[in-house]
This record gives sequence, structure tokens and C-alpha cells, in this order.
Amino acid sequence: MTGLAEQFRAVEGRIAAACARAGRDPASVRLLPVTKTQPAAVVRAAAALGYRAFGENRVQELVAKQAALAEVPGLEWVVIGHLQTNKAKPAARHARAVQSLESLKLAKALQSACEELDRTLDVLIEVNTSGEDSKFGLVPADVIVFAKELRAFDRLRPLGLMTLALPSDDPALVAPCFKTLAAVQTQLRYRDGEGWDELSMGMSGDFELAVELGSTCVRVGTALFGARAAG
Ligand SMILES: *Cc1c(COP(=O)(O)O)cnc(C)c1O
Repeated sequence: MTGLAEQFRAVEGRIAAACARAGRDPASVRLLPVTKTQPAAVVRAAAALGYRAFGENRVQELVAKQAALAEVPGLEWVVIGHLQTNKAKPAARHARAVQSLESLKLAKALQSACEELDRTLDVLIEVNTSGEDSKFGLVPADVIVFAKELRAFDRLRPLGLMTLALPSDDPALVAPCFKTLAAVQTQLRYRDGEGWDELSMGMSGDFELAVELGSTCVRVGTALFGARAAG
């Protein structure tokens, strides 16, 4: 096995073990490899392991890698980082999903880009569960109203919620973030009766805890690809 394959098997194994601890079906958790700053060749190698969806936090980088990998069939690109309104059009054209929807302004821009392109886009609402000023996302108390307003945007398919936990090694500080996201999901389902199935939570440092607390999508970069170059 190459080093990359070993890294993937290791992370997959840790996800499976966390599922076992929580009594969850491993098939209920997707591993979304985060390929930001990684060259196209690395994405090609990950695709050769069977992965098709990749997370990027910059639209320009996503577009460039998509072009570089045009020969690989069935790749899907997911925007996970903060998306500026002026990037809505290329995001809608080149991404399958945007996990970082956090304003009506962005929803409007994505909706009109999708109308122009005659397509629909999967979206997750980003929630700031850590309370840090530096984090994007809606405060939990605003999600219910925002979700209702989203109904006006027929080109956007809201599938669930996304969050970044507090960056800490202490599970006692990280767990409340994940629990908050799950609680918001419960509120949405109470109102809507169903849906909102996706909980995108968990990164290299905290994905096992996230899985134990209900994550359906872990976004993992460094644990698969090694440390990113600074900057
Ligand atoms: C970079 C990034 C990740 C992955 O982070 P790692 O710690 O490298 O696993 C996950 N989510 C978002 C939004 C990111 O920007």
C-alpha cells in the first residue's frame, strides 16, 4: 500500500471504531477528504482509492483542480469554506454542494446563479456552535428562521447543518459544539417533521468525537494528507 492508502485506511478504521462505540452503522458516516492546498496529483491518487467527493475552501482552487482532473470521471466538489457572494456563480457552476451557507445574501446569489445555469445545488447551513467571533455561521438561535426563509429559494436543496467546533484537545470543550448542532437539527425536524439529515461535523482533531455525537460527514484534511504548508 502507498502511504496515502494507509492514511485513508487508518482514518476509515478510526471512523468505524467510533461508530462501533456509538452503536452506529459505519455506512451512515461519509469521509469527505479535504484537499485544499493539495496538488491535483494527490486528489487523483485519492480518487484512485475510490473517493469521488472532495472538499475545498477556495472556489478558485476548486475550479483549477477540477480542470486539472477533467479526465477523472464522476468527481464532485464541495465548498466547505467561507464563500463570498461574488464567488457564488463559479461555486454554483463547479461545485456539487456548498456546506457554508450562512446568509440570505449568499442564498440569493446562489439561487440566481443556479437559475442562470438551470441547476440545483445541495446546501448545508453553517452554524457557529463555538461562539467564537472568528467563526462564520449563524448563531444557533437564528437557524430556525433562516431555514424558513430558505424555502423561497427553490434552486437550493438544504440537506442539513455544518459546523466547526472549538479548536481544542479537550473533549469537554469540543463536545458541546457538536451537541449544539445536533440540537438545532432536532428543532428543525420537530418543526418540519423530517429532513435535515446531514450533520457535517468533525475534522482531523475531533472527528471521532463528532461521529460519536451523530456526524454524517467528517471533513478530514491533515489526518489523510499530512500537514499543509503554512499560509
Ligand atoms: C481545512 C478544513 C477542514 C479540514 O481540516 P483538518 O484539520 O486538516 O482535517 C475541515 N473543514 C473546514 C471548513 C476546513 O476549512
